[in-house]
Amino acid sequence: MTTMNGVPFRQMMVSTSKRSIKCPNPMVPKKITVHETDNMTTAENEVKYMIGNDSSTSYHTAIDETEVIQALPYNRNGWHSGDGKNGYGNRNTIGVEICRNYDRNRQTRNLIEPLKSQYNKAKENAVKVIAQLCVDHNIVANSSNIKRHYDWNRKNCPSKMIADKLWNAFLNDIIAEYNRLVGKKATSSSKPANNTSKDNSSSSNSSTKSKWTKIEGKWTGQSLFEGQYGPPVEDMQTMLANNTPPFYPEKGAKNNGVDNYFGGQTKDAVIRFQTYYGLKVDGIPGKEVYGKLKENKSDSSSESGSSSKSSSPSFKVNSKVTLSKSAKKYATGQTIPSSVKGKSYTIQQIKTDRVLLKEIVSWVYKKDVVGTSSSSSKSKTSTSNSSSNSSESGKHGKLKIVNVNSAAIVMDKPDRNNAKSIGTIKKGATLPLNGSVRGKNSDNGYWEVEYKGGLGYITGNFGQKS
Ligand SMILES: [Zn+2]
Repeated sequence: MTTMNGVPFRQMMVSTSKRSIKCPNPMVPKKITVHETDNMTTAENEVKYMIGNDSSTSYHTAIDETEVIQALPYNRNGWHSGDGKNGYGNRNTIGVEICRNYDRNRQTRNLIEPLKSQYNKAKENAVKVIAQLCVDHNIVANSSNIKRHYDWNRKNCPSKMIADKLWNAFLNDIIAEYNRLVGKKATSSSKPANNTSKDNSSSSNSSTKSKWTKIEGKWTGQSLFEGQYGPPVEDMQTMLANNTPPFYPEKGAKNNGVDNYFGGQTKDAVIRFQTYYGLKVDGIPGKEVYGKLKENKSDSSSESGSSSKSSSPSFKVNSKVTLSKSAKKYATGQTIPSSVKGKSYTIQQIKTDRVLLKEIVSWVYKKDVVGTSSSSSKSKTSTSNSSSNSSESGKHGKLKIVNVNSAAIVMDKPDRNNAKSIGTIKKGATLPLNGSVRGKNSDNGYWEVEYKGGLGYITGNFGQKS
C-alpha cells in the first residue's frame, strides 16, 4: 500500500478528456488552500462526484479518516478558490478538501461520537498530508503559504474550523509536522555511512538497509528498486535532480543526495515525481518515469537545434538560409525568378511549412531553403552561427541563463503567474536577446528572447546579458 507521510494514498485522477474543464492550466504550486466539504461523506465519494460531473469546480486531493485521494495532477490548476479565472488561489495553490465535517441529519457542525472522532482523524490526516505536500513542492509551511479558502474570496470555508476556531491550532500542527519532516530529512540517512559499513550495522533503525544489491550498466528505463546501488541508480538520481523542477533525493545534502544508492529518500523523490506528473505512484522508476524524464529533458534541449534531425535544418528568426536553385514557386503561388535563387537570406518569420525571407519580403516553402547551420556545405554566409548553443545574437546580443539549479523556464508571456511554459533552457546556455520588459509579477522584470522561432520570456533573475 502506498502512503503519503503515513496516510494511505491513492489516485482517482480526473479523465484526460475533462482536463480542459477541471484543470486547464499548467501550474507550479506555491501555496496550499484548505477546504472543508460541508458534508459527511467519504473522500472517495467526494472525489467520485467531482471527477464525475461536468462542472469546472475541482480540487487536487480529498482527505478523510482513512485515506487521501488525489484527483488532479499537482502541476495543473484546480478551480476551488472562488477568486476568478486568474485568481492567485485558483492558479497557484493546491486545493485540499477535508471531509466529514457537517452532520446533515442533525444539521450541525457540532459533531457527536462517532462522527466527532471521524472528523478529528480526518483533520489529523490532513496535517500529515499538507506537511508532506509542502515538502514535496518546496513550499515552506507557514501562515502565508497555508491558506483557507476564506482568505481568497471570503467564503465561509473551511467552515467547521472557522466556527470552532480550530484554524490556528491546525496551522501550528502542520508547521510542527513540516519541521519534523524537514528535520528528519536532514538527519536520517538512506544509505550506509560508507560502502564498507554494510556489516557493521550500527544504523539502529532499519534492517532493510543492511542489504544492498549491486547493479551494473546504464539506466534505460528498466525498473529499479529500493536497496539497489550502482550506475543505473545514479543515472536515475541525476535525471531526477536535473529535471525542471528538480526532484532531489536529498535537497541540500552533498550533491543533493545523488549518491548511487537507492534508499528511502530516493524512493521518496521517485514518488514525488510520479505524483507530480500524474504517473502511477509506486516508488519504482521504470519505463514510465524514464520516458517522462527523457521527454522533459528533450524539451529543455530542443532549443539547441536537435542535432539528430540531420535532414531538416531548424529554422530560427534571424538565421540565414539559402534559397534552393531548384525552388519553383513562392508559398504564395507566384513563380520565383531565377535571379533570386541560390542566394542567402535572413528568416524574418516562421510558419508551419514556410518562412518569410526578409530581403525579398517573400514567403517560401521550408523545403526550398537550406539552413546554413545544417550539414550542407554550400552555405556561403560568413558568420559562424553554429546552432548547437543558440549562440547567434538577437537584436541586443545574447542572454546567458544564471541563478538556477539546472534550467530556466521559457514562458509565452512576461507574467510568471499566468504564463505557459514553452520550454526550458539549461543553466549556462545562451539565447538571442531581444530586450527586457517589465511584465507582471516579477520584481526584476523579464528578458525577451528569441525562442523556437518566436518570442519567449525569462524571469529577470535568471538571465545575464552576455
Ligand atoms: Zn472551500
